[in-house]
Amino acid sequence: MDTSSSTFSFEFFPPKTADGIAKLETTWQTLALLKPRFFSVTFGAAGSTRDRTFETVIEIQARSGVETAPHLSCICSTQENIREMLNGYRKQGIRHIVALRGDMPSGMVEAGEFRYANELVAFIRETTGEHFNIEIAAYPEYHPQASSPDRDLVNFKRKVEAGADSAITQYFYNADAYLSFIERCAKHGIRIPIVPGIMPITNYHQLARFSDACGAEIPRWIRKRLESYGEDLKSVRAFGEEIVTDLCERLLAHDAPGLHFYTLNRAEPALAIWNNLGLSDST
Ligand SMILES: Cc1cc2nc3c(=O)[nH]c(=O)nc-3n(C[C@H](O)[C@H](O)[C@H](O)COP(=O)(O)OP(=O)(O)OC[C@H]3O[C@@H](n4cnc5c(N)ncnc54)[C@H](O)[C@@H]3O)c2cc1C
Repeated sequence: MDTSSSTFSFEFFPPKTADGIAKLETTWQTLALLKPRFFSVTFGAAGSTRDRTFETVIEIQARSGVETAPHLSCICSTQENIREMLNGYRKQGIRHIVALRGDMPSGMVEAGEFRYANELVAFIRETTGEHFNIEIAAYPEYHPQASSPDRDLVNFKRKVEAGADSAITQYFYNADAYLSFIERCAKHGIRIPIVPGIMPITNYHQLARFSDACGAEIPRWIRKRLESYGEDLKSVRAFGEEIVTDLCERLLAHDAPGLHFYTLNRAEPALAIWNNLGLSDST
């Protein structure tokens, strides 16, 4: 498997506590040794982690030497505060952004000045030109609010046409969903790299909760096996590692342009998969 031109990246969330900050530091230090293409740091719903995302991104990029990309979501934001954040990042030497719509907090009905991610991508391009490398989100199993798979693809294409450089997918465990999505994108003239998002499996109950919320399917045979291990976390992790390694192998063998790991701020699960795949550093 030739992965010399593949793009590998790792995603973190901004920690809240001193303990969380220390744990994340150990994680990014470990993963920086793999020389990934970039790290990214999520943005809490409706801007709830705005300052922490900013501080985490700046610190990790400065200390790790790895390009670090903030996620930026536009729901409940104004043009004014998005412009301020973009200027802040630009001043700090950040050149890579993951541009998202985000989700509406419960009880809120007005989206704000931006309704969809394509409007945010267009705004970033209008106001900052080519300064930022812009990533967008893709959904091989379709976005849960999409009115149809066709409309979701049309909407995905809008983001590409607004100026996105590449995409990262929602996680999935069915390689065929990704391969079929890539084929449909190609038929619609979408040419940007679409990197699979990889969620290692370490905790079944947490994964089941996340998956219900974001519309990612855990295939029945995987669920059944994970459920059967009950509280035996060692077996959950061993099985999870095996199937996610197989998934990554299959994706790379089918020319996926790289892998983006959702780390949940832990290095070991992604590192185990990395080692199973026999990947060396990605420079
Ligand atoms: C890699 C990745 C990272 C993420 N990071 C974060 C994060 O840090 N913080 C966070 O809050 N969330 C994050 N999310 C979750 C994301 O915000 C949600 O999935 C959100 O519901 C959709 O965001 P989007 O950018 O894909 O939205 P959009 O691309 O705007 O799509 C949202 C829905 O609207 C539809 N749609 C899009 N454009 C139009 C249009 N012009 N007209 C009509 N319908 C339209 C789409 O079909 C889709 O159903 C992430 C998701 C991924 C895959």
